[in-house]
Amino acid sequence: MNKWLHRAAKLAEAFQVGDGKRFRLASIDPRDTGGFDSKRKSQAHLARAIRLLGELQEKLYAQDRWALLLIFQAMDAAGKDSTIKHVMSGVNPQGCQVYSFKAPSDEELDHDFMWRTTYRLPERGRIGIFNRSYYEEVLVVRVHPEILARERLPARLVTRDIWRERYEDINAFERYLTRNGTIVRKFFLHVSPDEQRERFLARLDEPGKNWKFSLADVRERNHWADYMDAYEAMIRHTSTADAPWYVVPADHKWFTRLVVVSAILEALAFLDLAFPTVEPDRLKELEAARVALANEAPDVSAAERARGST
Ligand code: ATP
Ligand code: MG
Repeated sequence: MNKWLHRAAKLAEAFQVGDGKRFRLASIDPRDTGGFDSKRKSQAHLARAIRLLGELQEKLYAQDRWALLLIFQAMDAAGKDSTIKHVMSGVNPQGCQVYSFKAPSDEELDHDFMWRTTYRLPERGRIGIFNRSYYEEVLVVRVHPEILARERLPARLVTRDIWRERYEDINAFERYLTRNGTIVRKFFLHVSPDEQRERFLARLDEPGKNWKFSLADVRERNHWADYMDAYEAMIRHTSTADAPWYVVPADHKWFTRLVVVSAILEALAFLDLAFPTVEPDRLKELEAARVALANEAPDVSAAERARGST
């Protein structure tokens, strides 16, 4: 691993939870900028990281063995959308799929809670991004018991153990994905309530941002402490060595992007990605095809027919 990549890996590791058992959310300051003192100074790093991500993704695609699943969770206005937009800006759109999960439809509620996400998992060679995910089932659903009541689960299955059971099922599912070649990385963009308030105000003040403003989002601020408890419990139970959570400071968007892209680079760097090599027999075939194409006489009559028809 080169020196620069090593530095990116170190930055990502500082915010990686790994085994979450003793994790405390209070240990992460949403305002942290990890030693970078300005957006300007981080810009060159970010540009280089995004370029490198584009190169690794081409190999991921060509090799067609591994898949990478990136999960984003956050309070509103923490910057999920803009982080995804910036971090993936150097990636070939053909190799990348983004899905946003909103409140489930009737059809989705007719199934188990991982149904709708499962069939949108990335294929081999692809990067799949979940903008929200099955983790909503232990976040918004935990904060609002009335949502759980609408999920039409058989009554005897809804006990006080339900959250622990969901964590277990999620862990088992992510282990299964990992064993099948899908690398899982999860990002909680941790914004402070003060910064969220500023961003909501900006959505009201700037006409171009009005469309993003939602009264429902403002109401959710009343449940801030419950959400933080739910996030902490989720991370404690579902951050594993194979599928770690990153708790990313999100009051400064430029820093959020830097940490997220570094974590993705780190994940890809360990896959030994390389363009497939061509076997000697196949090389001979390619050479024969080249000779045949080069020697092919131009089809004069076809060219004349084309001229005649114009
Ligand atoms: P975002 O807020 O992510 O930028 P958005 O504002 O475009 O997206 P919304 O219509 O607000 O989209 O949809 C997201 C909402 O759906 C969130 O409030 C989220 O909590 C809710 N949601 C997502 N998954 C579930 C779920 N499984 N059960 C209940 N609500 C869910
Ligand atoms: Mg919303």
